[in-house]
Amino acid sequence: MQAFTYSANPAHIVFGAGSSKSVADEVRRLGGNRALVLCTPSQEENARLINAQLGELAGGVFSGAVMHTPLEITRQAIDVYERTGADCLVAFGGGSTIGLGKAVAHRTNAVQIAVATTYAGSEVTPILGETENGVKTTVRDASILPDAVIYDPELTVDLPVSTSVTSGLNAMAHAIGGLYARDRNPITTLMALEGVQSLKEALPVIADRPNNVDARSNALYGAWLCGNVLGSVGMALHHKLCHTLGGSFGLPHAETHAILLPHTTAYNARLAADVLAPAAKLFGDDLAGGLYDFAESIGAPLALKELGLAEANLDRAADLAMKNAYWNPRTLERGAIRGLLQCAWSGDRPG
Ligand code: NAD
Repeated sequence: MQAFTYSANPAHIVFGAGSSKSVADEVRRLGGNRALVLCTPSQEENARLINAQLGELAGGVFSGAVMHTPLEITRQAIDVYERTGADCLVAFGGGSTIGLGKAVAHRTNAVQIAVATTYAGSEVTPILGETENGVKTTVRDASILPDAVIYDPELTVDLPVSTSVTSGLNAMAHAIGGLYARDRNPITTLMALEGVQSLKEALPVIADRPNNVDARSNALYGAWLCGNVLGSVGMALHHKLCHTLGGSFGLPHAETHAILLPHTTAYNARLAADVLAPAAKLFGDDLAGGLYDFAESIGAPLALKELGLAEANLDRAADLAMKNAYWNPRTLERGAIRGLLQCAWSGDRPG
């Protein structure tokens, strides 16, 4: 075995159907006296139920969370947090809401509880991405990690199938990227493989029966493991490309990850064949093709053109992906990356 270093992210996890009923216990356990619940506009109704469950600890609901954590929204939330005299945040939602919770806590030292309702995994990473005037910056610091995470699969049954499928593939992308990360270690590899396997079993069931709580549990369990991988190791070509497409062309987060995963896997397949071999056992010897077929079978979007990206932007996207050199199992080759983007734009099966 090769030498390695591993730092676990110290998260407290409460997992299980109905576990969101323990939200007040978690606030008390962490020493909070008043909790402000954060959510997106579309999740306000359920966020109000969480607020009601907080009883005497309830500090109200701020429902302004949006994608990419813009600083102006964070400022509004901090204003409400201070006016209500809260000392604790309950971020109820997916990566957008959890990002807002991290951004507010980073500036106020609030205690943070995340009630995760998608498979994006942000709740277990010490990473905060935020935008100001359209420019995205990323901060990584141990203090950004939420203090506790509640995973209640019953809160995910209303996540639309289309979002469930892309969010689940987004989680798988953390794991596949983690398998070939330069700073991977045996623990992150265990989590990555278990996470991918769990999502591979759960997503087809969810696509068919979205209310199946067992499948929702398996998907959330897989998402937790994959999020742990994202929070523990450095990411390479896949995440950088998604970052470029999201940041420079406004493409949606989970969908972009879902579409690119087979293509970035194909790019790295030969040079990372040994570390990807256990994942290939799950999807077939041609891992990239197997991931594409799996995405197609669960109804995921397959082509970047479906997301509204103009073909004329592919050259610029390839140029941007070459900037700020970063480590990747295979050297970054401009022509091959341009080819990868063309294939992903058209929605062709890689290989
Ligand atoms: P999201 O949080 O934007 O959620 C997508 C939509 O689904 C929203 O409209 C939301 O209200 C709705 N939704 C969420 N849960 C629901 C549920 N259970 N039922 C019904 N509707 C529900 O999307 P996301 O993919 O979870 O997060 C994307 C954002 O998170 C991006 O900004 C991304 O950069 C960030 N992110 C950050 C990290 C990190 O480690 N910092 C990791 C992953 C994602």
